[in-house]
Amino acid sequence: MTGSEIRNNWTLQEIEGIYNMPLLELIYKAAGVHHRNNQTGEVQVCTLLSIKTGGCPEDCAYCPQAARYHTDVSVQALMQTDEVLNYARKAKEAGSTRFCMGAAWREVRSNRDFDRVIEMVKGVNDLGMEVCCTLGMLTEEQALRLQEAGLYAYNHNLDTSEQYYEEIISTRTFDNRINTINNVRKAGITVCSGGIIGLGETHRDRISMLLTLATMPKHPESVPINALARVAGTPLEDNEKVDTWEMVRMIATARIVMPSSMVRLSAGRIEMSETEQAWCFMAGANSIFTGERETLLVTPNPGVSEDMQMLQTLGLKPMMKKETCC
Ligand code: SF4
Repeated sequence: MTGSEIRNNWTLQEIEGIYNMPLLELIYKAAGVHHRNNQTGEVQVCTLLSIKTGGCPEDCAYCPQAARYHTDVSVQALMQTDEVLNYARKAKEAGSTRFCMGAAWREVRSNRDFDRVIEMVKGVNDLGMEVCCTLGMLTEEQALRLQEAGLYAYNHNLDTSEQYYEEIISTRTFDNRINTINNVRKAGITVCSGGIIGLGETHRDRISMLLTLATMPKHPESVPINALARVAGTPLEDNEKVDTWEMVRMIATARIVMPSSMVRLSAGRIEMSETEQAWCFMAGANSIFTGERETLLVTPNPGVSEDMQMLQTLGLKPMMKKETCC
């Protein structure tokens, strides 16, 4: 496999030119890049568990876990370590190689709850799974503690472009986001960072977000592309449903500008048919979230048996854990 050149000097105009290609041309190009850089017959299967749910002080306009919105999410305190490890064991048995734990916190506080998360990270790592967390903002010292406990990846999405950021979140800044990602990198943890489409952003915003990711000194090893899950009670509940071709266009562009990153088809799969998801894989997606709980944190998601059936239909195999992949 001869890989494409990894570039960190993309310009907005270059990415715009790719994003605006005729759709099928774009998919052909992305599929070629994918084929040259990755095992196209494999899809990474990850499980995401909400270990602390709801009651978040932030105001992310898309999020049903923000305390200020009136949604159906019930607040749940941080789970016990044993309970989380039971979920991780089941996820492993069902074919997941990566286990992600999400807590609805603004930021990590260095307290007993964080000590418990450290225990969870050690426990999942001991199961031989790649362990990932998404816990909000993180200092360099906290990132280092997580790394020492065996954390493999940290998720911190950009969500949207720098220009559109304050329309979606007012309780923190785009720079706060970048700082946490830098702290994760400094600690030697791999980065998982992507965004959401369907927030009311322009095409230029989507391109700008991809530019930020693709011009980082090192590309995020994992790039989740989410379609907005429109949840009743959130400010964005009446937004239009994201068209699948918009997801395909976004995934294909991400694949071309970040050839060897895992591009994850994330939220929004529940509203896609197998055929639509197949187009996303064709365009370069090679990672999904699944799980027996059939939720992605707190929104609906296909279940693991349905997903395994889909992969079989498409002739795709769950990716084995690789030390070099994320
Ligand atoms: S996305 Fe995260 S930080 Fe924002 S409100 Fe939801 S849980 Fe809080």
